[in-house]
Amino acid sequence: MKRPLTIIAAAFLAAFLLFGCATEGERPTGVASGQDAVNEYLKAEEIISDAEKLAERQKQAAAEQEKKVAPADLEQLGDLEPPPPPPPPPPPAVKKGAGPASIPIIMYHQVRNDKSGDMIISKGKLEEELAYLKREGYYSVSPSEWLDYCDGRIGLPQKCVILTFDDGWKSQYQNAVPLLEKYGFRGVFYVYPDFVGGSAAMNWKQIQSLAKRGHTVGCHSMTHPKLTPDKNESDRNYKARIKEEIIDAKKVIEEKTGISVTDFCFPYGYYSEDCFKLLDKAGFETATTVNAGQNSKNSDPYLLSRYQVNQSTSLSTFASWLAEPYAEAYLERPGDGARTKKGAECRLTLSDELLQAWRQGGEMTIRCNHEHPQFRQDGNTLIFRAPKDDARVTCAIKIKARDGRTYRRSFFFTQGK
Ligand SMILES: [Zn+2]
Repeated sequence: MKRPLTIIAAAFLAAFLLFGCATEGERPTGVASGQDAVNEYLKAEEIISDAEKLAERQKQAAAEQEKKVAPADLEQLGDLEPPPPPPPPPPPAVKKGAGPASIPIIMYHQVRNDKSGDMIISKGKLEEELAYLKREGYYSVSPSEWLDYCDGRIGLPQKCVILTFDDGWKSQYQNAVPLLEKYGFRGVFYVYPDFVGGSAAMNWKQIQSLAKRGHTVGCHSMTHPKLTPDKNESDRNYKARIKEEIIDAKKVIEEKTGISVTDFCFPYGYYSEDCFKLLDKAGFETATTVNAGQNSKNSDPYLLSRYQVNQSTSLSTFASWLAEPYAEAYLERPGDGARTKKGAECRLTLSDELLQAWRQGGEMTIRCNHEHPQFRQDGNTLIFRAPKDDARVTCAIKIKARDGRTYRRSFFFTQGK
């Protein structure tokens, strides 16, 4: 029964890819991913905004980056292997019940000494941050360890962090892995088959070696597309397309490496409720976004927030993220990951803690892409309209409490069909 569906799905994917190539002829392979380009414009203090403008800028940035990464730079990366792995750090002896109330997840991209883009961070910068984490007593965990802790199966040290690396860049293997191991940390590496083996990417053998060294290998789709419906894409085509990107991508990575893959990362941070269904069907346990903020024990494991480090991110900003409390808020309407009509009414409900932080003189910012919508308050709920012309909307709330603490939370949904 599955065979004909797979063929149909493959045909849709092939058609999509051809169409994609025809419209985005400049798409670089093996040099820059769209995620990087998008994130060029994601400053630490900002949210993703105005998806259409971003897509345009992203194309330009990707083209520029392709020009900047000269072949000589790529040759320099060579095929050097990091030194043999040290034994993985022993699991901490911690009683069940103890442990952190929330966890920060950090997001990195390329790690090499190159100033051609803010998303490329230097080895020195990564080491500065890892040394800080070590000094402050942080312990790195994998997403599945975090879930085990949330479900009460294991205890964890009081200070934990998840360190994630997107796209499968070769510079992560050569530069980030030795640094992680020097400081006794383990990383999560999200790879996508379309990029693996490219001149600036890791190959399958290196990805296998990551797992052997105690790191986590996650899935970042098959081809790094937007996992939300394209303009004029039928519902049927959309669902067939994302099935390939989620279910089939997992299979390919597992077949090529022999590693069981349970963690997903949404390209560009775009997602939908249809994605969640497929993640569940495929057997994924977690998925990460690019929404900034902490994650609590009750956070949806398919909507894990992350903080993105750029070269321009200062160590004090990095330190302040780690210290942020979890911001408990719910986008009751239209719902996180929803697909809704244009100009959706948003109902954002805040916990009493957040509401108090605002009422007691805190400074609140609400953003929907580039707009700061007018809102009215009904009890704990803030009601406002999303920008009616934007197909993809990120709503973010930030409250700077008078005691200096910052609460931060973002949501994402699509409008249109
Ligand atoms: Zn990416």
